[in-house]
Amino acid sequence: MTQILSGREAADALLGTLSEQVSQLDPKLVVVQVGDDPASASYIKQKMKSCEKVGMRHEHKHLPADTTREQLFSLIEQLNADPDVTGFIVQLPLPDHLQPLVPQVIRAIDPKKDVDGFGAYNLGKVLLSREFEHLPPATPSGIIALMEHYKIDPAGKHVVVVGRSNIVGKPIALMLLNRDATVTVCHSRTPDLGVITRQADILIAAVGKPKLITADMVKDGVVVIDVGMSRTKDGLTGDVDFAGVEPKASAITPVPGGVGPMTVAGLLRNCVRAKERQKEQD
Ligand code: NAP
Repeated sequence: MTQILSGREAADALLGTLSEQVSQLDPKLVVVQVGDDPASASYIKQKMKSCEKVGMRHEHKHLPADTTREQLFSLIEQLNADPDVTGFIVQLPLPDHLQPLVPQVIRAIDPKKDVDGFGAYNLGKVLLSREFEHLPPATPSGIIALMEHYKIDPAGKHVVVVGRSNIVGKPIALMLLNRDATVTVCHSRTPDLGVITRQADILIAAVGKPKLITADMVKDGVVVIDVGMSRTKDGLTGDVDFAGVEPKASAITPVPGGVGPMTVAGLLRNCVRAKERQKEQD
C-alpha cells in the first residue's frame, strides 16, 4: 500500500515542537506583501494562521501595488533595524515594476533576519555542511522535516531532483548530499528526463509544470515528493500525475497538503532559530 506523506500531519508535529520555544523566546515574524497577487494572499494567510497556532507574534505589512522602489527598500531598512522584528520575508512575486529588483531585495535583508533563507549568506552555509545549515530555505528545510517525520532516510539512496532553482532545487540537492544521498539534478536542458527519473529511489519534482512526471517515468517503490504548485482549471496541481504515479510509489506527497504546509513550518522554525541566535549575540 502506498503511504501518503501528509504535510499537514508532519507540519502539525513540527509546529507542536516549536510552541514551547516560541513561548520562551517570543520571536516576531513580519510578512511584507506588495500588491494583490491572489496566490500570495493565500500563502500569507496560511503563514499567519500557523503563527497563531504556535503562538508566534506576527504582522502582515500589506503595501499597495504602486509602491515605489524607494518605499520598499526603506521598509526593508526599517525592519532590519527594528530589534523587535526577529525575521521577515518579502512575499514573491512582486508587482511587475519591482520584480526585476528581487535579487537586490533579497540582498537587502539582514542575513540574521532572512527567515526565508534566500540570501547568499544562508545559502552559502547550506553549501558548507549539515552542521552549518542555520536558516536554510524554508521549502527544502520543510522537505527534510517531512522525510524525518516519516522516517525516510536519504543516506545511500539515489535522489533525483527535477528543477534547479535557488530556492528549491539547488538547496534541496545540497541538503540531501549533506545527508549522504547520491543526488542527480535535472532541469529544462536535461535530455530524456525519464531515463534519469526512472533511476530514482527518491524523486523530488520542483518544476511548476502540472503532471510533468508520469507513471512511465518512475520505478516501482519510488518515494515521490511533489513540490510543484500550479493553478489550473482543476485547482492546485502538482508536477506529478498523482493518479498514475501513486500506485507505483511506496510513498507520495499529495498536492495540496504535502510540501506546502511544511514550507510554512520551515519558515516558523527559522524564525525561532533566528531568535535563538540573536539572543546569543545580545
Ligand atoms: P522555478 O524557479 O521556475 O524553477 C523551475 C525549474 O524547473 C528550473 O530549474 C527549470 O529548469 C526546471 N524545468 C522547467 N521545465 C522543465 C522540464 N520540462 N523538465 C525538467 N526541468 C524543467 O520554480 P521554483 O521556484 O523552484 O518552483 C517550482 C515549483 O514549486 C512551482 O510550481 C512553485 O509554485 C512550487 N513551489 C512550491 C512551494 C511549496 O511550498 N509547496 C514552494 C516553492 C515553490 P531551468 O533552470 O533550466 O530553467
